[in-house]
Amino acid sequence: MYSRIMSKESKCPYCESIFENNQQLSNHIDKIHNNEDAIGTQGL
Ligand SMILES: [Zn+2]
Repeated sequence: MYSRIMSKESKCPYCESIFENNQQLSNHIDKIHNNEDAIGTQGL
């Protein structure tokens, strides 16, 4: 199976939660923070 790749983790800019991918991050933001303006592919 796939091992944890610490290369494409997405961190929430609001609560600094770590997600496996950007999709989960977007889902988290949309569900928790509900900020559609924050959804974007912008890597810090
Ligand atoms: Zn968050």
